Amino acid sequence: MICFEIPPEVLAQLEPYAHIAHTMMRPQARQYDEQEHTRPYPFIHAIWPLERARHQQWQQAAAQETGSNAPDLDVLFSILLAELLSWADAGQFLARPGGRLGGTAVAAAGTPAQKIRFLERFAHSETPVWGAMAITEPDAGSDNSAMRTTAVLDPQTNEWILNGQKIFITSGALSLVESDGICIVWATVDPNAGRQGIKSFVVEAHTPGISISPGLDKLGIRASDTVILNFDNARIPFDHVLGDLEVQTEKTTKGFAGAMKTFDASRPAVAASAVGIARAALELTKETLAEAGIELNYNKPRHLWTAVERDLLEMEAQYKAAWLLTLKATAAIMYGRSNRLDASMCKVKAGTAVVFVTQKAVELLGPYGYTRDALAEKLMRDAKINDLYEGTRQINLLIVARALLGYSRRELK
Ligand SMILES: Cc1cc2nc3c(=O)[nH]c(=O)nc-3n(C[C@H](O)[C@H](O)[C@H](O)COP(=O)(O)OP(=O)(O)OC[C@H]3O[C@@H](n4cnc5c(N)ncnc54)[C@H](O)[C@@H]3O)c2cc1C
Repeated sequence: MICFEIPPEVLAQLEPYAHIAHTMMRPQARQYDEQEHTRPYPFIHAIWPLERARHQQWQQAAAQETGSNAPDLDVLFSILLAELLSWADAGQFLARPGGRLGGTAVAAAGTPAQKIRFLERFAHSETPVWGAMAITEPDAGSDNSAMRTTAVLDPQTNEWILNGQKIFITSGALSLVESDGICIVWATVDPNAGRQGIKSFVVEAHTPGISISPGLDKLGIRASDTVILNFDNARIPFDHVLGDLEVQTEKTTKGFAGAMKTFDASRPAVAASAVGIARAALELTKETLAEAGIELNYNKPRHLWTAVERDLLEMEAQYKAAWLLTLKATAAIMYGRSNRLDASMCKVKAGTAVVFVTQKAVELLGPYGYTRDALAEKLMRDAKINDLYEGTRQINLLIVARALLGYSRRELK
């Protein structure tokens, strides 16, 4: 049975977030876009108690694991939240404190003990705490096997020594310097071993040997912290490798496979964020055109549509298709099923849709859409990132094609 009704308890849980989205995030969206590198602290402090309470709920649920077959409503909540907050402002949404991609990685690849140990801070810290994940390097983006950040075990102290550089890391400074957070860093224990050498390491804030280059100036999502991380003999305890003893001690693809599971959960969230931006652009366009007397009449015969009406309908169709695919990928996680194909598919669709919808919004609003008086141009700039990070459109298309055609990674690259 397919049911699109959102359970009332999920809707109720969204209410305080909706209040922050409407009264704080949206009104200050332009300000943080204009003042890149200024942290949106009013928003951060307003949302932190809500996020901390959610982490407490997860911890309680994990401790009382009943093995029930009931759908995991928190997964649905997270997706609806990503859509809602990105509708308000995708930049501030990305600056939101909490485990974020780092927390997702621990949840996907960590042992039960590691989940408690490394996620504890997100449930109990009085002050906001961030998580992050660092994979990309100057010469290793889409192709992770080219990774050059190394982890060498010092047998005398039983510590890993990290050396290398990670670029474009979202919340890198917030997690490692500006709070007591964590950053999950992918590094290789053997650069010649390809994916078998790659493991993910939990790096805690204020670890000596890590420096941060100044934040990058970006096209969009400008309230989001994006930095370069430099590792110069940074020492990490042995058991900070995410995964069991086999992952910690052997050269195996198990560590890489565990880390890749992070994307099964995070790609639908990126798609949801894209859908939120698309909805904002669609609403803005419809409201502005309605003021000019142009309103969609869905019953009008096709041959009588004006060009503007046809564009609006196309925007709506793209937006809805992206949202439905995102919900499909989400439902699979909620019911504990594999969603790798759906996760990539919804990310491709939503990334493409949001770029189309926001560009059309700027186009249909005319010169007004191109000015900073309207949010349309900002939405267009914020949209593009969803097509790039967490696997570019091309890489996710490859994953979809391989799955549909039955090709291996080697056969289709
Ligand atoms: C604002 C921002 C935030 C980010 N946050 C993070 C973060 O928190 N953590 C992190 O680790 N990274 C982060 N990234 C990095 C992002 O994930 C990478 O930019 C992305 O994975 C692409 O890698 P690359 O830039 O090295 O591009 P490349 O891999 O060099 O790709 C360049 C182009 O070639 C295409 N391409 C590559 N291989 C193929 C192929 N086999 N077939 C067809 N086309 C191909 C790509 O699709 C792309 O269009 C962020 C990036 C940005 C811009």
